Amino acid sequence: MNINEIAKQNYLWVEKMGWHNKTTLEALALVASEVGEAINECRNEKPTQAFGEELADIILRVLDIAYWQDINIEKEVLDKMAKNERRGSRGRIK
Ligand SMILES: [Mg+2]
Repeated sequence: MNINEIAKQNYLWVEKMGWHNKTTLEALALVASEVGEAINECRNEKPTQAFGEELADIILRVLDIAYWQDINIEKEVLDKMAKNERRGSRGRIK
C-alpha cells in the first residue's frame, strides 16, 4: 500500500467514525495535539515504547488532511525531498 492509499483508507475510516473536523485549522490543531503526545513520550533519557505510536498518530492526522484537501501527498513528499536535495546544505554542513 502506498502513502496515498494509506491516506484514503484512513480518511474513509475516520469518516465512518464521524470524527472529521469542520475546518483545516481544527484538523491542524489535532496534529499539534499529537505532537504534544509524542513530546510526552520523550521526557526521559530515551523515548518510551509508545513514541512510535504517537509518530504514527501525527502521520495519520496529516494524511487525513491531505486526502480531504485532495493533495497528492506522495508527490508532495517526493517533490519536496528532491527540492531539498537541489538546495544542498545551505551552509549548514558541520
Ligand atoms: Mg496519540
